[in-house]
Amino acid sequence: MMPPNPDKPPAPIADPLREKLSAKVAYFSMEMAVDEEIPTYSGGLGVLAADTLRAAAGSLLPMVGVTLLYRRGYFFQRFDAQGWQREEAVAWSPENVLCELSERVSVVLEGRTVQVRAWLFWIRDAGEGRVPILFLDTGLPENSEWDRALSEFLYGGDNRYRLCQEVILGIGGVRMLRKLGFERLELFHMNEGHSSLLTLELLEEEAKRAGRTEPTSEDIEAVRRMCAFTTHTPVSAGHDRFPLDMVKKVIRLPAIADGAYKGRFCCDGEINLTHLAFEFSHYINGVAKRHSEVSRVLFYPATIDSITNGIHLPYWASRPMQDLFDRHIPGWRADAFSVRYAIAAPLEEVQQAHEQSKAQLIQYVNRETNAGMNPDVLTIGFARRATAYKRPELILTDIERLKRISGVKGPLQLIFAGKAHPQDEEGKRAIQRIMQSRIRLLPEVRMIYLAEYDLALARLLVAGVDLWLNTPQPPLEASGTSGMKAAINGVPNFSVLDGWWIEGCIEGVTGWSIGPDHYQRKEGSDVQRDARDLYDKLEDVIVPLFYGDSEGYTRVMRQAIALNGSFFNAQRMLQQYVLKAYFA
Ligand SMILES: *Cc1c(COP(=O)(O)O)cnc(C)c1O
Repeated sequence: MMPPNPDKPPAPIADPLREKLSAKVAYFSMEMAVDEEIPTYSGGLGVLAADTLRAAAGSLLPMVGVTLLYRRGYFFQRFDAQGWQREEAVAWSPENVLCELSERVSVVLEGRTVQVRAWLFWIRDAGEGRVPILFLDTGLPENSEWDRALSEFLYGGDNRYRLCQEVILGIGGVRMLRKLGFERLELFHMNEGHSSLLTLELLEEEAKRAGRTEPTSEDIEAVRRMCAFTTHTPVSAGHDRFPLDMVKKVIRLPAIADGAYKGRFCCDGEINLTHLAFEFSHYINGVAKRHSEVSRVLFYPATIDSITNGIHLPYWASRPMQDLFDRHIPGWRADAFSVRYAIAAPLEEVQQAHEQSKAQLIQYVNRETNAGMNPDVLTIGFARRATAYKRPELILTDIERLKRISGVKGPLQLIFAGKAHPQDEEGKRAIQRIMQSRIRLLPEVRMIYLAEYDLALARLLVAGVDLWLNTPQPPLEASGTSGMKAAINGVPNFSVLDGWWIEGCIEGVTGWSIGPDHYQRKEGSDVQRDARDLYDKLEDVIVPLFYGDSEGYTRVMRQAIALNGSFFNAQRMLQQYVLKAYFA
């Protein structure tokens, strides 16, 4: 299994919540990747949520997180002998890592009263700061079997299952915060549309406070002042929509849904949770500049600002890199901008820190898989959700060419990882094809596909490879954050110009681009041209630099840390949220 993580926070203590009821911002997310032992996340969305809350803990911003508990997790990934993904329930016990709270609230689902409890987790910064996170759970004996099962799977089940989960999250979440006594909340931040039913609960509260049974336009304005929304998906099919009939069976909709607001979030017989969040938020943003531009077209005429994602540096920097920063940039954990001073760190120390992280990764990979990886070989990492638009096979488009580059210019080895959603057959087929190309790549290129990409494996990978590859189909990568994790570890990115990389790429300085910018592209996927560009750059620029001018390569590593680590971090991101969205 994974090596122990020296930064792991101590096990949760049965802590009274009292002292922390001062939260002013409630952050809602369907998934949160708060800890290696808590498998209630599938990928980037959950990591971003946790990193945001870590940054809040670090800057002592009064915040509380709200998410759902999934007793079977997302899933545990295994492969059969044919390289086909098999999903297993994750064996974990909330009791061991979370603290049960005694308060209960209820929501009405399809006429049934469903009881909800919360489990508490404290997420920590590297220092003293901590922020509470509530994991909502319907797994109580007083609920029916079907209602208990709402706390089993993340992104499992059908539309109705999903809608009921989102009622628990949005409506149950607000009720739980009230019940626990969070009386100072001023702002509700929805991380993606899954939680946007919370706006209906806030509307009802406003109306009730004024002694009305139905909300008015004044109530709507009051709710807008309290809500902020971050969209993450640049394709309309990626946004949750439910048939209006189904929604009306599950919950009571306010009369405005059929009145003045008909057509705003209920249209064509459906309710769109993204539109619902748009309608009731005073601030909306995309997660990178390009993503915001694309979203403005997709959701015209909504006003959509941009706050580019960031990662929590103390969580993602490897131990050797942290030691290097401690030597040369005292106070960097509290002041992420100061990471720019890494530009003056001695090159040998940057190289040594990376070598240590690389040794740790190669040792792990060889021990787990017997892949025979060599620590002296240029190692390319590719790890992310396995799905069509991420184009995981791009680097394998022309296997003979890749072998030639490796044979002539200097050896290459590849490490892949990533889960496909259980219903994403195309993603699973892509993984299978990658695994099956392993033999064809030999002997010039060693390749391995690692199972069970999670927080722990991500930490090893982003620090231990020499080059971080990302080849999405533009403009579909909203932001991407794994490349930022690589950057703070001195691992240059080699990526298609999309998401954050449009902002982070200075060619040959912080890494390298693949293919033209989206606006210079023709319609459709340009696989052949992108693949050619990828091979050309590997052959002519990257491999020669790595083997022929090691100091030059280390200089790119150092620049990636200083220029990109100091900006693409959660502390800068949270400051922007505070100024633009929370207390504007
Ligand atoms: C960071 C991270 C992601 C998201 O990475 P992208 O580059 O946005 O695809 C997904 N899964 C895990 C485990 C991560 O740590």
